[in-house]
Amino acid sequence: MYEGQVSQVHGISRRDFVRSTVAGGIGAAVLPDLAKSQDAGQTETRYIAAYDTESSACLAACSKIAEVHRRFEMPATFFILGKTLDANPAEYRKLLDDPLFEIASHTYTHQMLRDNVFCGKAVSIDEKRNEIFKGKEAVERVFERPCIGMRPGCGFDNAFKGEPQVLKLVQEAGFKYVSSLLWGPDYSLPVPLHEPFSYKADGFSDIWELPGHGWHENLLKDHNRWGPRRLTLWPPPFPEAIPRGFCKTPKDEFEVNKVFLDKALETRKPFVSLIWHPWSLAKFDPDMKMLELTFTHVHKTSLKPCTYSQLYEYVSG
Ligand SMILES: [Zn+2]
Repeated sequence: MYEGQVSQVHGISRRDFVRSTVAGGIGAAVLPDLAKSQDAGQTETRYIAAYDTESSACLAACSKIAEVHRRFEMPATFFILGKTLDANPAEYRKLLDDPLFEIASHTYTHQMLRDNVFCGKAVSIDEKRNEIFKGKEAVERVFERPCIGMRPGCGFDNAFKGEPQVLKLVQEAGFKYVSSLLWGPDYSLPVPLHEPFSYKADGFSDIWELPGHGWHENLLKDHNRWGPRRLTLWPPPFPEAIPRGFCKTPKDEFEVNKVFLDKALETRKPFVSLIWHPWSLAKFDPDMKMLELTFTHVHKTSLKPCTYSQLYEYVSG
């Protein structure tokens, strides 16, 4: 979600969207493959650093981010908005054209591919097609390599389940995975440690959902100027991951990250990946101290760093 998505949000703060507490509702519905990975005797938990790259401030931020990644030999996936990429194609290519990095799509202009409680209504089918196809085309044209994954703007609490029109477009465009499950039940945060699943139940067994986890970090710092909001679920399924207030320092943010990384390892999840935005990271922490703390921690644990495309290769067999 990007900075521009502020005005839409004020309407929602007046809206009463309290529903009864979801007890296993959406959360359970999106976790069909949980048992499978554990049955397979899975021992490795992967870690993916990923960035929703989506505004003009992201370019300078990516320069600092890429430097930290090279220093820590830490792979990453950059989901880049087509419009943002087209504004500075040569610069992005120079910065991110590295085998350490996967370049994936964040759609073309961040329009909603389905209704999102916070970010707005879905656009028309023609606009959805445009977002999906033009976003992929921009990445492939600029980086001259295949773009196999897409993270839609803002994401959804039910991924693309029950959205065959969008899944059809995703398939037609040639994407192998989407990363659209970016909210907890009832559009709550943090996002639980959801596991990957295929869209077999929707008739698209060759498309995989590879979710994101934790907080949209911009919200941890009030960077969208939403102020206090109804974001967390009650009873909280993961209370230790809910900080007492907005993060004030890079270390505060790292402490929140650490809860998810350690929990993923402890519960033997196939992977963990937090939802980060270059513009917001740089605004809060221009020296990228949080990245250093997080990557130092990753290297100290048995987490296996990789990209979303590598996770796709693994889960799709
Ligand atoms: Zn975004």
